[in-house]
This record gives sequence, C-alpha cells and structure tokens, in this order.
Amino acid sequence: MTVLKMPKNIRTAWIVLCWMLLFMHAVPAVTAEDKELSLYHGNKQSKVFHRKGCRYYDCSKCSAVFKTRAEAVGAGYKPCKICKP
Ligand SMILES: [Zn+2]
Repeated sequence: MTVLKMPKNIRTAWIVLCWMLLFMHAVPAVTAEDKELSLYHGNKQSKVFHRKGCRYYDCSKCSAVFKTRAEAVGAGYKPCKICKP
C-alpha cells in the first residue's frame, strides 16, 4: 500500500512545486516591469504606441519614447491593439 501511495505524493509535490515556481517567476516580473520600465515606444509612421514586452516595442520605426501613457496620447499616438498600453 505504501508503494502505491508514493506516486500520488510525488505528483502532488510536483504540482505544488510547479505552482511555486510559477508564482515566484510571474509576480516579480510583473512588478519589476511596472516600476522600472514605464516607457512606451511610439511608431512614428503609424502613430501607434507600444508598451515594453510588445513584439512591436522595438520596431525600426518605434523611435518615439514616452514616459507615460498620457504623454503618448497627448502627442497624438494611439494605443496598440495587441499590447493595450
Ligand atoms: Zn504593441
């Protein structure tokens, strides 16, 4: 019976470990991103701005940099529909 119980315990431990890893990785990444990198990149051609992490954030035409979302909107830029800044 004890042998049969083992895999179940290991599976439970594995799930808990996965959740812990997920939690440890996900939470600091989000908070660090919000605090340090509140920068937005604007595409000077399409007049669309992106937030850090967007696949278009570092595009060749995204040379306009804004510190805040309001700054980007005030400059006539529209938020990207993918990253929703
Ligand atoms: Zn974007």
